[in-house]
Amino acid sequence: MSPSPDPDRWRNSTSPNGPRPPLADEFPVVDWQRAMKRAIRSQSELRRRLGLGADVAADAGEHFPTFVPLELLARIKPGDPNDPILRQVLTTADESIDQPGFVADPVGDLQAEAGGGVLHKYAGRALIITHGACAVHCRYCFRREFPYNELGSRKQQWGPAIDYIRGDDSIHEVLLSGGDPLTLTDSALFTLLDQIESIPHVRRLRIHTRLPIAIPQRITTELADRLSESRLAVWFVIHANHANEIDDAVTESVGRLSRRGIPVLNQSVLLAGVNDDVDALQSLSLSLIDIAVQPYYLHQLDQVRGAGHFQVDVARGIELVNQLRQRLPGYAVPKYVVENAGEKSKTPIA
Ligand SMILES: *Cc1c(COP(=O)(O)O)cnc(C)c1O
Ligand code: SF4
Repeated sequence: MSPSPDPDRWRNSTSPNGPRPPLADEFPVVDWQRAMKRAIRSQSELRRRLGLGADVAADAGEHFPTFVPLELLARIKPGDPNDPILRQVLTTADESIDQPGFVADPVGDLQAEAGGGVLHKYAGRALIITHGACAVHCRYCFRREFPYNELGSRKQQWGPAIDYIRGDDSIHEVLLSGGDPLTLTDSALFTLLDQIESIPHVRRLRIHTRLPIAIPQRITTELADRLSESRLAVWFVIHANHANEIDDAVTESVGRLSRRGIPVLNQSVLLAGVNDDVDALQSLSLSLIDIAVQPYYLHQLDQVRGAGHFQVDVARGIELVNQLRQRLPGYAVPKYVVENAGEKSKTPIA
């Protein structure tokens, strides 16, 4: 297998897996909210669209249902149960097997909640759980069991979160997370932004989002303009795990940010059957740096209940990152980290 991807891959209208399937006819470009509404919400529908047999996936549990937008579906190769994007969204019988050490809240989010949906674990940074919704449901997600209804900033009442941040002048950076903060409407998001900007000691805003990958048209010029006009330094952290996730539309979406001077970083999770080989990780990093996105973190899987089948041994992870270092520019090698509940930063592994 050739380690370097075709550099012109994302300029073609075909997916990296070859010509787009006939499915493409069903993909008129719609705005992001309509893209959310028309997303696939059951494993049987996902299987049907991809021509997969009923043996391939189990049904998703009620607390973390299936959610796959057609924009992402278009990057999955039909008929291939091992497709690296499909593996991230496909339920398997393994999900319902209890594995020792895999729990509902592996990173101690519930202990760190400071009120109003704010997680304040690390020096200088506070994270707001803005909204429970996401544009794709990733089966390995560490927040798959997060009690958003109890803890999120309910119904976009930002008051308590803003009061908390205003009351602590050591907080210079606010992270918007979720769920996914870009599932908020522009008007909700801009209201929140106005309030964060009104706190004098906050200097930076970081938006953690998978929307530029899942539904790239979410990054509208209006949104990008509003962010670039902020008095805050705005940083984006997107989330891609495999080079196949990066297509023309993603390139456009990221470009709307970077052309306005907004830096974009990427974080990935090391996932068995998705990116646990050096060629896949190398292609991912190259695809990212070629569109001026810097690989930031490669996360060791958080041990959340239902995700045991995605785990890769730490020893293997270290070996992979060391191999990457021999193939890539230094800035293209992500920091391999794990999040340990109670620690004051992510813990570097390699
Ligand atoms: C991961 C995380 C951050 C950000 O950590 P960085 O190392 O600065 O990227 C901030 N707050 C919380 C609660 C986190 O989980
Ligand atoms: S987009 Fe992020 S928060 Fe949402 S399910 Fe995927 S990994 Fe979890």
